[in-house]
Amino acid sequence: MCGIVGYIGDHQAGPVLVQSLEKLEYRGYDSAGVCTNDGQKLIVEKEKGKLKELKKATDDGKKVQGTVGIGHTRWATHGEPSKINAHPHLSSSGSFAVVHNGIIENYMELKHELSANGISFHSSTDTEVIAQLLEYHYNGDLVDTVIKIMPLLKGSYALGIMYREAPDKIIAVRKGSPLIIGIGENENYLASDVPAILDKTRKIYRLAANEIAVIKRDSITVYDTDKNVVEKSAETIEWSMDAAEKDGYEHFMLKEIMEQPKAVYNTIIERIKDGRVVLDEIHLTAEQIKSFEKINIVACGSAYHVGVVAKYIFEKILRKPVEVNVASEFKYSDPIVDEKTLTIVISQSGETADTKEAMYEAQRKGSYTIAVVNVVGSAIAVEANDVIYTLAGPEIAVATTKAYSAQLAVIYMLAIYFGDILGKINQEDYRNYVSELLALPEKIKLILNKAEDIKNTASKLFARKDVFFIGRNIDYALSLEGSLKLKEISYIHSEAYAAGELKHGTISLIEKGTLVIALTTYEDLHEKTCSNIKEVQSRGAYVLGIGCENMQLLVRSADSTILIPKTCDIMLPSLAVVPMQILAYYIARFKGCEIDTPRNLAKSVTVE
Ligand code: GLU
Repeated sequence: MCGIVGYIGDHQAGPVLVQSLEKLEYRGYDSAGVCTNDGQKLIVEKEKGKLKELKKATDDGKKVQGTVGIGHTRWATHGEPSKINAHPHLSSSGSFAVVHNGIIENYMELKHELSANGISFHSSTDTEVIAQLLEYHYNGDLVDTVIKIMPLLKGSYALGIMYREAPDKIIAVRKGSPLIIGIGENENYLASDVPAILDKTRKIYRLAANEIAVIKRDSITVYDTDKNVVEKSAETIEWSMDAAEKDGYEHFMLKEIMEQPKAVYNTIIERIKDGRVVLDEIHLTAEQIKSFEKINIVACGSAYHVGVVAKYIFEKILRKPVEVNVASEFKYSDPIVDEKTLTIVISQSGETADTKEAMYEAQRKGSYTIAVVNVVGSAIAVEANDVIYTLAGPEIAVATTKAYSAQLAVIYMLAIYFGDILGKINQEDYRNYVSELLALPEKIKLILNKAEDIKNTASKLFARKDVFFIGRNIDYALSLEGSLKLKEISYIHSEAYAAGELKHGTISLIEKGTLVIALTTYEDLHEKTCSNIKEVQSRGAYVLGIGCENMQLLVRSADSTILIPKTCDIMLPSLAVVPMQILAYYIARFKGCEIDTPRNLAKSVTVE
């Protein structure tokens, strides 16, 4: 789930590996390590904590000798974060070294079997069984051995493997977690994500599930599990270096918040032609669209919250029932979906394991799947029936902002597109929706211009211990995201509640000084939410209201307010989310939190 890097070429591998790991630091990790082969032995160095510890221990990588190596930043799943549990892991005799992203679900069983055969283990990770299995099953041919152990491993993995007696190659294999191979001149690279190698090469191969790559200094050969050679076509990465750099901002998160007008603009602009929403990437016929009885949305985290917003929008416009499912629960609940259900799958990375599994489950049951994904060529994008890419550009900060906004933009386009086909939108509403959609980037900019005011608000609120986000209807959907953003990066306990529901229990938690952030952008329910504001204020809460510019009742009711421009009802989330992101960012900054890599979190969660 965290970072894998590899290098083979004419240069010393250590410094290259350390530099590449630095480029993956944003993903969040708890320890780091490298392994090189000096022609005689495998040399492993690893340290708990941040990369600077490993850099210190290895003199920026110079201490480990050899022109071939692998490296890793670990996000612990099995075994505490510690030096011993850090990767790379060696087999008993030190002949195999392995770095691993993912989880081996049956590692206890494997460990038991190997221990019964006299093999002793040093770490408490699931990963170590892979190194031990390789040594145990080694039959003189590396690729054969890897193919042999693959069916023994249940779970998800991306692996970088080195063998002491083969200093001329790195083996890479994936099932589940992503891996790419960077193609250089007399040197090649391995990485779990593009930023690791962007300053070295832009030509890559993306390894598909169950492919095994033999990476040498001057060749890359990819095999399937029958050992047939797979012809790969190289992809050129078009990102600018800026996309992977902070570009003068203190944090990627702030940079990405500021990039939202562009992310939304890029996502919509090519899909609106002559005032019409044109989704060429969808292959569904009008007949098929009309035949769906239900829409099912599966996603996790913030993408799930986009799904909750989508439910309100689709049901309002399309008048079809919409179910939003937390992806990790979906597969295991024997869901009621079939060929009359359209499934929308939302994932920034396109590699989220829970979402991918949920998508497979929906497909198995005959449901047509449309993926909304940011990373081109990712597993969900490739395996869904259709994919609509969000064009947010690479998102580096763990807490999503611009990808969330781009996902919302896709939801609006789908609602307009389907609504038109189903005859649920009249031409006047259609024109209005499209013109509001086109106006969104500029309106988001107007809110970004207020960042200093919001920072000022944050400076007064950052010491609060408990926060409640409340809202009704679409504002409730949005409060889920506001609350998540705050807790992800500031570690302040916060909850999102439907404003009318609070009095049915949770209002008992409101006391003097509790912060309540009340969202009331939705005009029709504005007065009702203002009543809920009064209820919590009567019990001592301090209320920050977020609403639209014309909402005088809110200004009179709340203790302080942030006002956003008006737009049509369905698109209000795109505007109202922005002050909440900025607020969460500055609150975390005033608290001195590590904003881009919050504790315990990882950017793309490739394990179930
Ligand atoms: N499951 C492995 C471990 O806990 C790999 C974790 C990762 O993906 O970083 O060591």
